[in-house]
Amino acid sequence: MAKSSSVIKEVIEKVKIKDTAQPEFFQAVEEVLTTLEPTVSKHPEFVKAKIYERIVVPDRAILFRVPWVDDAGEVQVNRGFRVEFNNAIGPYKGGLRFHPSVNLGILKFLGFEQIFKNALTTLPMGGGKGGSDFEPKGKSDDEVMRFCQAFMRELFRHIGPDRDVPAGDIGVGGREIGYMYGYYKKIVNEHTGVLTGKGLSYGGSLIRPEATGYGTVYFAAEMLATRGQEFKSKRVAVSGSGNVSQYAIEKVNELGGIPITASDSNGTIVDESGIDANKLAFLFDLKNNRRGRIKEYADKHNVKYYEGKSVWEVVKEHGLKVDIALPCATQNELDETLAKGLAAAGCYCVSEGANMPSDLNAIKIYQENNFLYGPAKAANAGGVAVSGLEMSQNSMRLMWSREEVDAKLLGIMKSIHKTCLDTADAYGKKGDYLTGANIGGFIKVANAMLAYGIV
Ligand code: NDP
Repeated sequence: MAKSSSVIKEVIEKVKIKDTAQPEFFQAVEEVLTTLEPTVSKHPEFVKAKIYERIVVPDRAILFRVPWVDDAGEVQVNRGFRVEFNNAIGPYKGGLRFHPSVNLGILKFLGFEQIFKNALTTLPMGGGKGGSDFEPKGKSDDEVMRFCQAFMRELFRHIGPDRDVPAGDIGVGGREIGYMYGYYKKIVNEHTGVLTGKGLSYGGSLIRPEATGYGTVYFAAEMLATRGQEFKSKRVAVSGSGNVSQYAIEKVNELGGIPITASDSNGTIVDESGIDANKLAFLFDLKNNRRGRIKEYADKHNVKYYEGKSVWEVVKEHGLKVDIALPCATQNELDETLAKGLAAAGCYCVSEGANMPSDLNAIKIYQENNFLYGPAKAANAGGVAVSGLEMSQNSMRLMWSREEVDAKLLGIMKSIHKTCLDTADAYGKKGDYLTGANIGGFIKVANAMLAYGIV
């Protein structure tokens, strides 16, 4: 036991020293490796081959300059990145994020998480992530197009349908994927499955836009069922108002739950009567077509708006009653204090639509309060799972129906839920979804790495 602790501790310490300026990456490594502890004594072959030490270093991280010209004719320069973390079980796969906060550390955290998430989906996909510090908010369509083209002018040489297949993430939706794919097709002269999240008319999959939000709710429903519960009549707090949040809200409504919150980086709305299908249609239009702010929802529907506050601050400060929480905006939304606020609000289930929205102290609070806690790499894996199905359809040159893809998505989410529970059980951590997800994903990748020898 002492030996196993020291193996994991040494790797964590090394990352802390070597990757000092990358706090999010260190946080993700610490979270994953700590839960891998029970694998060390069971798999001496992993220790011998230094799998733990190898898996925290990306295969490669590509960094590039993205120069483009804005509407005023001025030259702008952004940073572009692609972290190809691990392709042991399939081509690198993971989204592109366009947000001013993007840096190498954030993309390494996302790429690292993606390795285990993708392994859990049962599909053959490795882990990667990329993006830019470009801010799409406030830019014209023409500027976004010129930026996407400039970004692809370099990225194209690193990606390919059997090599690395990017998708969307924060700030990268259908519009951006369209511009990037159009440019790739132009310069490579191939119509191929090199990006996912494509439009339906040019190789996209039905249910891909819905997949992450729907999957997060499917996963929560599976967790609730273990306690004989369901979404019906439950008050659900959702953060964010982008792609993941929108479809999480839609599915909560379908299952009879009451989504009562949404937010953006300016503030939070609380709609006590529920964001129903009509109000959600307004939200879709507001965010996807008009690219407006969430405050407009409050003005239009005469509900409360809290400027500068996150959903979780509002829950805590205003004693909002919440049964289920779906954090769907960004990393580190929830810390210890805000998690305590959730517990005080009566919440007992957290299913993470966003990546790493809860920090390590928040997770401790969930565990102490016996929450049903679905960690991101399991709960939001529906998005990349349907991206994997988009790759399959592209390779086969055919298109499945909406019902077929949704049924496959539901099946995959159920399978991930089962893997988490079975794995946690097998490693002496019954009911611990976090440990189950991390070990479940890790074992598959580690076995593949072992098979390849030292490469
Ligand atoms: P979108 O860009 O569509 O929406 C992001 C939402 O979160 C917006 O409402 C945005 O507000 C808000 N947000 C982003 N950053 C911050 C911040 N720093 N503080 C407060 N609010 C913020 O992104 P997605 O919905 O695609 O992604 C949301 C999360 O889900 C991310 O963590 C992403 O990694 C994760 N995810 C996404 C998948 C997908 O398929 N899209 C797959 C798996 C995970 P504003 O508009 O004001 O910035």
